[in-house]
Amino acid sequence: MILIAGVSPKTKTIDPTPRLCPSCGLAQAYLKRVDHYVSLFFIPVMRIKKGESVLVCNRCESAGYTAPKQQPPSESTQPVMCKQCGRSLQHGFRYCPFCGGRQ
Ligand SMILES: [Zn+2]
Ligand SMILES: [Zn+2]
Repeated sequence: MILIAGVSPKTKTIDPTPRLCPSCGLAQAYLKRVDHYVSLFFIPVMRIKKGESVLVCNRCESAGYTAPKQQPPSESTQPVMCKQCGRSLQHGFRYCPFCGGRQ
C-alpha cells in the first residue's frame, strides 16, 4: 500500500465583501487566507499552518497584505522638541537657540 501524503496550501475566502484593490483600484479584491493542510490522497485532512490574511484581487490577481508594516521613522528625521519651550530643534542640539534651555 502506498500512502500519498503531503502538505498542500488551501486558499480560503475569509470575507466575501469586495474591497478596493490597491493595484487596479477596482472593488474586486477579497480577503483570503492560505492555510496549509496535510493531505492524504490529495484530500486535506488536517490544518497544520494558519496563514496570514491577504487581500487578493480577482481581476489583476495582485496580492497584498492588508496590514502593511509601516517603516519606523529614522532617528535623524524625527523632529526634536525643546524640553523647555517646545520649539522644534535640529537633531543633536544640546542647547535650545530660542530659549537657551539645556536639552
Ligand atoms: Zn486589482
Ligand atoms: Zn527652547
